Amino acid sequence: MGYKIALIRGDGVGPEVVSSAVQVLSEIGFDADYVEIRAGLSLFKETGKPLEEVELSKIKECDAALKGPIATLPGPGTYTSVNVLLRKYFNLYVNFRPFENLVNEKYPYFNFIIFRENTEELYTGAEWNFGEASVALRVITKKATQKIVSYSFNYALKNDRKRVTVVHKANILKETDGLFRDTFFEESKKYPLQADEIIVDSAAYQLVKNPEQFDVLATPNLYGDILSDLAAGLVGSLGLCGSANIGDKYAIFEPVHGVAWDIAGKGIANPIGAILSSSYLLDWLSEKHNDKRLAKYSKVISLAVKNVLKLKKFTKELGGNLTTEDLTKLIITETKKVEAIF
Ligand code: NAD
Repeated sequence: MGYKIALIRGDGVGPEVVSSAVQVLSEIGFDADYVEIRAGLSLFKETGKPLEEVELSKIKECDAALKGPIATLPGPGTYTSVNVLLRKYFNLYVNFRPFENLVNEKYPYFNFIIFRENTEELYTGAEWNFGEASVALRVITKKATQKIVSYSFNYALKNDRKRVTVVHKANILKETDGLFRDTFFEESKKYPLQADEIIVDSAAYQLVKNPEQFDVLATPNLYGDILSDLAAGLVGSLGLCGSANIGDKYAIFEPVHGVAWDIAGKGIANPIGAILSSSYLLDWLSEKHNDKRLAKYSKVISLAVKNVLKLKKFTKELGGNLTTEDLTKLIITETKKVEAIF
């Protein structure tokens, strides 16, 4: 069966790393038709819109999307984040961000996942300016919280994880984070897993001090956004981290990192985050379509990435001298070796 994948290459290093992921997918034998979708700053400069509405239905017609980062400009008077728009349009309520330490020798081995609520809270754009004061509306609903929390527990159960920790600040934000926390503990009763809690500031501290203690973290939108960049720092580089935005019917896969203007166009961006995202894409499609071949491809990619990282040959941000292309080629060569043992 051939799949239709929307390719949103994005801005900055996006086209470079997405191209690496597509090369890996194609070399591994993933049978796909790619539908190119333009979105981001360069499109905005040409047309005044960062994403044409017609593109949304093109994305919807695909089985899933693979995406690069898209620039979002700070401050008022600029366009709304395309990421936020896509996550809301497709109701991609789960942001799945795994962090495994494969290279950072300053830390012991850790392997935890952040499940970040992806559709509400401070990311709805409900903000107003009243001259000398600005106000943002922070909405947390029981329904959206139940969805992210039950997804986190179900994932934990299925993947032999033992502990799910809710991250909140319910001591201060008693109503909003209070609802998130209470809903978490209510849902947790349905699962034979350890369920506990941590205040967000303490989570930041504990992640830096002893990240190996964490297993699965469930967070509201903003805390998950911030803590996952912190976690990427622990892993060693934003360029190593992949992610998935998942809803009931659709999913978009993208590296955790942003457009990295400082290295864009230099051919030195780390493609691993995008490549791992493509492996998550295969896993999701495999489950949705009961296509076991794709689950195998996904495992081959993640094992090939691990093996290549063991060689300690890195891109520049990790102290190495590999280009994006060199690292992509190394991973492709490794997939051929790994395939043979499956
Ligand atoms: P960034 O991730 O772009 O860059 C932070 C640092 O990480 C930089 O030093 C950069 O060089 C490095 N880095 C990032 N990706 C890398 C890679 N693949 N290989 C090697 N090094 C890498 O974060 P930022 O500077 O805060 O954000 C820049 C822009 O990206 C902003 O407009 C922001 O809105 C956007 N952004 C988009 C997404 C997304 O589309 N999902 C996510 C985050 C940020």
